[in-house]
Amino acid sequence: MTKQLASKTVLISGASIAGPALALWLHRYGFTPTVVERAPQLRPGGYKVDLRGVSIDVCERMGILDDVRRASTDMRGGSYVDDTGATIAELPAAFFGGRVDGDDEVMRGDLARILHERTRHDVEYLFGDSIASLSGDADGVDVTFENGPPRRFDLVVGADGMHSHTRRLVFGDERRFRRHLGAYISIFTAPNDLDLDRWETYHALPDKLVCAYSSGGETRAKNLFVFGSPELSYDHRDVAQQKKILADVFAGDGWEIPAMLNNAAAADDFYFDSISLIEMDRWSKGRVVLLGDAAHCTSPSSGQGTGLALTGAYILAGELAAANGDHAVAYERYEREMRPGVEVNQRFAERFAKEMTVSSKGRIRMRMALVRMLPYMPWKNLIAKKITEDVQKAAHAVQIRDYAR
Ligand SMILES: Cc1cc2nc3c(=O)[nH]c(=O)nc-3n(C[C@H](O)[C@H](O)[C@H](O)COP(=O)(O)OP(=O)(O)OC[C@H]3O[C@@H](n4cnc5c(N)ncnc54)[C@H](O)[C@@H]3O)c2cc1C
Repeated sequence: MTKQLASKTVLISGASIAGPALALWLHRYGFTPTVVERAPQLRPGGYKVDLRGVSIDVCERMGILDDVRRASTDMRGGSYVDDTGATIAELPAAFFGGRVDGDDEVMRGDLARILHERTRHDVEYLFGDSIASLSGDADGVDVTFENGPPRRFDLVVGADGMHSHTRRLVFGDERRFRRHLGAYISIFTAPNDLDLDRWETYHALPDKLVCAYSSGGETRAKNLFVFGSPELSYDHRDVAQQKKILADVFAGDGWEIPAMLNNAAAADDFYFDSISLIEMDRWSKGRVVLLGDAAHCTSPSSGQGTGLALTGAYILAGELAAANGDHAVAYERYEREMRPGVEVNQRFAERFAKEMTVSSKGRIRMRMALVRMLPYMPWKNLIAKKITEDVQKAAHAVQIRDYAR
């Protein structure tokens, strides 16, 4: 049995996926976690996220798998359409996700809600606040907050996403660690004007991809935009500026795009970000450690960011418990367990980022012809198998072991 460590206080910055998942495990092991989240409440929104392989095992160990299954997007499939809206081809859901039996897909916001509900009675949450400064010594970390009074913690974890504030405070400027993969993504909730039922509809343009989908149990839809672009200069907190960038890039484009841009203008859960990797030599310094996208963002093109955030939380908490709270030992083991698998996923993301959009109308025609013929090709099962194998290799790249509970 792990010795109880109720005196080990841990401040976690970020209440999306990695932060609450870590809090759940730390509480179970006898630590005292506090989660600080900059947003005034749990942030809604986000893409549907895949949970495959090891991360399903982690959900089961966390006791949230039934909730995850209930929240499943339950997608039936999807289609590609031309600029008149006519269907070019239809494909089953498994083909889009590279999933196998047991894998699942949920909305990011639903998973964040499940994790928060599971932890909120046992864990202190400080919404609407942010770390202002960190000052570590041999025994702990003094933390000042933008709003609340200063406090001292034994350990601090930055689970505050790709643009991690904790990373900036402790390791320096984001530009040293973030590598833009040449594209941007935007997604937000919108009216279900196309009457989609657990269905996704894609329209490809040169260097651009647009999608509308509606998942299980949803009366509304999501609108998704991807476009190729070198790094843009904008304020990632200025949503109005980001909406303008999107409107400018897609101005004059056909299909449902004008209506979707109106939806963007009205959206209150508008998400816009660069498709980027975070690459760091080390994920910890002293008593501070990074987790999830803050440490090693693999970008939406990996389809694994959420799974890695859950798996990393499981390993970090397990190693802290196994090392009896000795953070230096635990941080090193956590990084050793995670890093090789993270790198497999980052290489996968790099390859896939290049495939998300197609550069010319001619190439789009060729790809669409291929997609249209796919269901009739004698070797279609082999193609599906190859796609699934690559995705599954990434999904099983980090292995987990048992820790005392
Ligand atoms: C609103 C939202 C929408 C998203 N949509 C998509 C999507 O469509 N496609 C996709 O692939 N990925 C999306 N992501 C990212 C995806 O959820 C992550 O890749 C993945 O789940 C890893 O989670 P994470 O907990 O490490 O980081 P994130 O999910 O990025 O969460 C970081 C959390 O830290 C909080 N935070 C940031 N700064 C501070 C601060 N200074 N102090 C305290 N808290 C702070 C953020 O508000 C957020 O709640 C989205 C994330 C968010 C927050």
